[in-house]
Amino acid sequence: MQAGLRELDVDLKKSDFFITHLHSDHLGLVSTLVTETSRIYFNQPDAQSVENSNARWTDFVYYARMNGLTESELQTFLERHPGYKYRAKGKLSFTILKEGDTLNIGEYSFKCVETPGHTEGHMCLYEFRKKVFISGDHILNSITLTSNYGLIGGIPEGISGRFG
Ligand SMILES: [Zn+2]
Repeated sequence: MQAGLRELDVDLKKSDFFITHLHSDHLGLVSTLVTETSRIYFNQPDAQSVENSNARWTDFVYYARMNGLTESELQTFLERHPGYKYRAKGKLSFTILKEGDTLNIGEYSFKCVETPGHTEGHMCLYEFRKKVFISGDHILNSITLTSNYGLIGGIPEGISGRFG
């Protein structure tokens, strides 16, 4: 990945991160990319869940053992579970955003849109002037509550009404 970032001329010391939600395929690599000068923009509910995640995995291991999983089975399960395997490592420091906050990046001015559903704190970004919507996993065909919005035709009234 570092080679790819170099090829794209990405300077991680000048890079911040906006994370839509806590799932490992979105948050997991941040701990390997963040630098001492990076900010990680995130939402409060998911930040709290990340804070508690080690306790949840400890509970899971405890109950798995109680229910008869052998140490070998448990180790295999954890090694294969993507949520565990690719979870963010170490303590991350988040800059918390909330509904209506603005992130200015170059000529883009993104408004934060809280979109709970996929996770408790899922957050999207909307650039009203350029009509850019960064949706994370808010819009997934069959596994998200919001899948029927059909954004191809435009931003749903409930979202666009907040910034129009
Ligand atoms: Zn997700």
